[in-house]
Amino acid sequence: MTRAAGELNLALDYDFTLFDTARFSTDLWQEVARLTDIPLAQAAADGEGFHADPVLGGYDYEKHMAAYGLESAAMWAVLDDVVRSNDYLYEDSAEFVQVLRAEGYRPYILSYGVMPYQRAKIVPYIGKLAGASDERRNTGPDLGYTIILRRKGEYIAEAYPGARGALVDDVANQILPEGFVEIHIDRSLELTSPQEKAGGFVVANLAQAQHVIRSL
Ligand SMILES: [Mg+2]
Repeated sequence: MTRAAGELNLALDYDFTLFDTARFSTDLWQEVARLTDIPLAQAAADGEGFHADPVLGGYDYEKHMAAYGLESAAMWAVLDDVVRSNDYLYEDSAEFVQVLRAEGYRPYILSYGVMPYQRAKIVPYIGKLAGASDERRNTGPDLGYTIILRRKGEYIAEAYPGARGALVDDVANQILPEGFVEIHIDRSLELTSPQEKAGGFVVANLAQAQHVIRSL
């Protein structure tokens, strides 16, 4: 079991999978609105328009803030303050990662987006996700993370040719390579158990994702 678990390439999406991006974005834009005197609704609406990639999407925070005249130091300070003075992990995220690791799995975060913005959201929570004793200092067992600006299926196929694995993600139909199972998490569903679909499963929470992973 442990050997098989360690051999499974286990990619975990971050935004909307481990991290409550909707709640975070609202808080972030609230602070930005306060700093710039731009109404929250306006900041939120504008935010939807700054894409890192015209097809794949992804929020371009730096461009958005620059449009308001916020300088680099100020935009990163406000983000850092929001991230560090709240907890945006879902209730089941840290336990999910820690139980997997305790069972011999080696999950890693595979996140789509712009590097500095994604890193600013991910790094402060690595310690908590991995179960470090001093979670805010990010000490103890580290948890790998990879930030990409391309399709996850393409990245996995190139980075891990021939591997067997799974991707847990709130976005469905990622077109994963042969040998990979898609575990689509949709927290709005009220499923009592994972549901099979073409190429994988649909789950309503991370406990159900864990159930699927154990069965692989
Ligand atoms: Mg996501």
